[in-house]
Amino acid sequence: MSKNIPLKVAIIGAGAAGLMCAIEAGKKGHQVHLFDHAKKPGEKIRISGGGRCNFTNKHCGPTNFISQNKHFCKSPLSRYPASSFISMVDEYKIKHHEKKPEKETGQLFCDDSSQEIIDMLLSECAAAHVKIKLNTPINSITKNGAHITVDIEGKDHDFDALVIACGGPSIPKMGASDFGYKIARQFGHKIITPEPALVPLTFTDETLNFTKNLSGTSIDSVLIRSKTNQFNDDLLFTHRGLSGPVILQISSYWKAGETLTVNLLPKIDLMDELKNAKSKQPKIKLQKFLSSYLPSRFIESYLPLIIDEKSLNNNLADYSDKKFKVLAEAIQKWEIKPNGTEGYRKAEVTLGGVDTNEIDNKTFESKLVSGLYFIGEVVDVTGHLGGHNFQWAWASGFCCGSEI
Ligand SMILES: Cc1cc2nc3c(=O)[nH]c(=O)nc-3n(C[C@H](O)[C@H](O)[C@H](O)COP(=O)(O)OP(=O)(O)OC[C@H]3O[C@@H](n4cnc5c(N)ncnc54)[C@H](O)[C@@H]3O)c2cc1C
Repeated sequence: MSKNIPLKVAIIGAGAAGLMCAIEAGKKGHQVHLFDHAKKPGEKIRISGGGRCNFTNKHCGPTNFISQNKHFCKSPLSRYPASSFISMVDEYKIKHHEKKPEKETGQLFCDDSSQEIIDMLLSECAAAHVKIKLNTPINSITKNGAHITVDIEGKDHDFDALVIACGGPSIPKMGASDFGYKIARQFGHKIITPEPALVPLTFTDETLNFTKNLSGTSIDSVLIRSKTNQFNDDLLFTHRGLSGPVILQISSYWKAGETLTVNLLPKIDLMDELKNAKSKQPKIKLQKFLSSYLPSRFIESYLPLIIDEKSLNNNLADYSDKKFKVLAEAIQKWEIKPNGTEGYRKAEVTLGGVDTNEIDNKTFESKLVSGLYFIGEVVDVTGHLGGHNFQWAWASGFCCGSEI
């Protein structure tokens, strides 16, 4: 947009995408004003990754994203790949590590604290002369000829460019709002219906009665399948239902009413293992055998649903192959039917958002209103768990800021 003329740029939302965009726009010499209604910038960065911020994923690519327009994210992700953000983190000497490197997760976390990422971004903002104004709710926005007028604390201010970086409505207590969608609708943009994503699933008492006493128990490397996707990661039992990375991942694909299939032991053929063990160690007790694969607490709660009370813990030799088949299927094809999700209160991100067909994926400028831009989570691009959502925020923020 600029052709090297310094512009007056307003960015609403001092989260991951807004901070990154401000840095790049500021470096170009624009006069950048970054507004947020929260008391502090980057609150979601602070709480992310259990306080250690999973700031990117080394393997991040377009297949890690959900969008009605799956091609939209390709160019921004290639112009600002994970390696670019890692370089900045390295320049700031922020120590980091990969989660489970033996599994090549690619998920990078700070060794110490996510605050280091916020401090790095704020330091870059300061160097780029970005003016950050917190505690500042924006009341209204109007297009006024070549300018966009923003009502800030009851006074109108004209800007050459306005970037909406308000994120999605997940975790309202952190300052999340649907303001971005309101502005988009006001200017005629279509919104792909937002829904909570990367969110724990809930179940009826009937379905998950047996898990009540399992809160806090986890099972590693479980395979979960929906109609449209599958994930392999850890499962966690909670007092409200099921969570853990594998559930959060599939929640972004789960549709109301759908049944999910869980293989609790995807690396083995349990039927074969049971038959082999029966011939080699016929006197081993069933629960002892299973406890070398699954947590004992889980076996004790789950087994009574599969096997009749009298033969709950016999020697392997006492079970027929037919019984083994029932048991193997219950463990490797466990069917669960969620009755809902824990909603925006617990969702890490929001599916849907501003329709990308109406945004230019080089500049992130609206195709409907010149000078208006949308970046980050407010846009209909949602990442898988594992650092992809921040990578999207950095990439969209970078591309927009460097093109204004
Ligand atoms: C608990 C949790 C953990 C997460 N962990 C990770 C992780 O480890 N790795 C990962 O990749 N992703 C993670 N995410 C997702 C990630 O935080 C988001 O995808 C990312 O923050 C989106 O960046 P954004 O800048 O678009 O929006 P946000 O970071 O949400 O920033 C939006 C900003 O806009 C401000 N705002 C909203 N409305 C208004 C308004 N009306 N006026 C002024 N300001 C406004 C908000 O206060 C906020 O500061 C996590 C999310 C949560 C909730």
